[in-house]
Amino acid sequence: MTNLSLSTVGAMPITIPPEDLQALRAALRGSACAPTDAGYDEARTIWNAMIDRRPGLAIRCQGAADVMLAVDLARKHELLVAVRGGGHNVAGSAVCDGGLLIDLSPMRWVRIDPVAKRANVGPGATLADVDREAQAFGLALPTGINSTTGIGGLTLGGGFGWLTRKFGMTIDNLISAEMVTAEGKLVHVDVRDNPDLFWAIRGGGGNFGIVTNFEFQLHTVGPQVLSGLVVHPFADAKKILTQYQSILSEASHDLTCWAVMRKAPPLPFLPQEWHGREVLILAMCWVGDIAAGEKAMAPLRGLGTPIADVVSPTPFAGWQTAFDPLLTAGARNYWKTHDFEQLEGDLLDTLIEAVKALPGPECEVFIAHVGGAMSHVPVSATAYPQRSAHYIMNVHTRWRDPGDDSACIGWARDLFQGAAKYSLGSAYVNFMPDDEGDRIEKVYGPNYRRLSEIKQRYDPGNLFRSNQNIKPSKG
Ligand SMILES: Cc1cc2nc3c(=O)[nH]c(=O)nc-3n(C[C@H](O)[C@H](O)[C@H](O)COP(=O)(O)OP(=O)(O)OC[C@H]3O[C@@H](n4cnc5c(N)ncnc54)[C@H](O)[C@@H]3O)c2cc1C
Repeated sequence: MTNLSLSTVGAMPITIPPEDLQALRAALRGSACAPTDAGYDEARTIWNAMIDRRPGLAIRCQGAADVMLAVDLARKHELLVAVRGGGHNVAGSAVCDGGLLIDLSPMRWVRIDPVAKRANVGPGATLADVDREAQAFGLALPTGINSTTGIGGLTLGGGFGWLTRKFGMTIDNLISAEMVTAEGKLVHVDVRDNPDLFWAIRGGGGNFGIVTNFEFQLHTVGPQVLSGLVVHPFADAKKILTQYQSILSEASHDLTCWAVMRKAPPLPFLPQEWHGREVLILAMCWVGDIAAGEKAMAPLRGLGTPIADVVSPTPFAGWQTAFDPLLTAGARNYWKTHDFEQLEGDLLDTLIEAVKALPGPECEVFIAHVGGAMSHVPVSATAYPQRSAHYIMNVHTRWRDPGDDSACIGWARDLFQGAAKYSLGSAYVNFMPDDEGDRIEKVYGPNYRRLSEIKQRYDPGNLFRSNQNIKPSKG
């Protein structure tokens, strides 16, 4: 057996002697995959096909003990480390070139306590795993809108979706976590134990350690929610979005309505002549009594002359998968994001002009409607820095041919620049690409300094830096 070469923190690559690798393999419950081993490609392949990185070794963890062994290995050899949950992050930070990939995706448990309405969730679980188990008891956790997303990265960055206006962000429902620190120790974090770490992981991403279990508060939801899409001709976008904003400024927290601007996909309920033409889609969900929802949604559904209205009572877990077919893994993706308090006139013009020049049939601009319970939490209560935004824009550029890279990325950057003057300056780190490292301090705003001090205390050597990186304060 030959030595295994791995990149390190410094310039010199190191090798792991075969006997060390053998000992590691004997100690792991999961597996250690070198580039020629089965499981290696599965571990390193992530949602965004632009990311094609080859770690020196992938440890596919089955539990906290494996994660501790992996961190010990990384410390001993000063290895570059990447941590993978669901592998959905657009920046591709879940995987590194050379170094050690710590793959949590096998740790996929979800255990529900229906009496306490709590869930213990492994860091490799997807949102679908959580929805399926929780809905068996009529319960749900506020997460995101694409069921194949990993709970790990989503939670650590913040997490918002259809239930956020009513029940808060994913982090607002995090009761405790277990995590392995940069020293390789397993610690329990909650409001009493290690409160600084508990504060930092609620929005500060994977900077502070590797979470091996999340404990969440759940809520009674469904099983049916009133939800679906209303699709408008794009020519009406400005008028509809102006009225949309005015209706939503008064809306109940049970109602959430996201706006999506894109070319119409060939959905079966859309007349064929609209396929491939620009449309405005209002995606809406009412979390509560269905009859009350019909009444509350009427003003939104009454806007303009829609091409289609497919809003109806739908099982919550099914609604959570509604966008999955448009968001499958394997496409090239580049995202840009801003937070907005309002969708004002000139901003709408900027968005509309950009959508008229979409660089491809799968590209879209979506505006997440947030606020509600999310805005009742003070900014200083968690690391997540922005509680007053009502709209979070994602310029979601998505294409297949590498030859289109520069046109698609250029389009997203232009729109991002054009919309910057209307934004709040903060941003959702989970929607940021990998080329915005210089934006981190600004997006965390008033919370950055405390994050940087906590990073200094728990990870002064910046072992966990394959992420939207918060630098140690003395670094
Ligand atoms: C199609 C799509 C739709 C989305 N929709 C939403 C949405 O509606 N709402 C929303 O809030 N977000 C949404 N997101 C963004 C999502 O929150 C992020 O992509 C998130 O990072 C995904 O988590 P993951 O575990 O799959 O990511 P990964 O790529 O596996 O991980 C991302 C980073 O998180 C860190 N990390 C992950 N797990 C751990 C852990 N257990 N311990 C320590 N660090 C860890 C690592 O630094 C890693 O690099 C969406 C993403 C996609 C691709």
